[in-house]
Amino acid sequence: MQSLCETCARVREVITPKGSRFLLCQLSQSDPAFPKYPPQPVVRCDGYRPRETSEAERERMRWELRQVADLSADEQAALRTLSLAVYPPEVSATWPGRAIEWAPHQWGVIAWDAEGAALC
Ligand code: SF4
Repeated sequence: MQSLCETCARVREVITPKGSRFLLCQLSQSDPAFPKYPPQPVVRCDGYRPRETSEAERERMRWELRQVADLSADEQAALRTLSLAVYPPEVSATWPGRAIEWAPHQWGVIAWDAEGAALC
């Protein structure tokens, strides 16, 4: 489940020197009802405003329908990085769906940016 913060115009990504990633809600600076670092994932938020994607950004994105078995090690690593950003260990450890045994997916629709990072 992707957090709304990931696509919100009011979020600022904070990367620590050790590589930890946090999502800072800038709305918290003017409205105390919003936590500075909202617990992720946020699935509903009255402050959410979708971030604009520029035409140039959209043109640089590459969409693919891929068989998971055909992904290279680098592509799998990029997806793992994205997965950890969306589902940090502290979130996945408490996610109710962790008790369900999921079938492995065979296909995936993946969006890549110009640098080869997985976007979704
Ligand atoms: S306004 Fe809501 S969705 Fe946007 S960054 Fe803050 S908590 Fe996340």
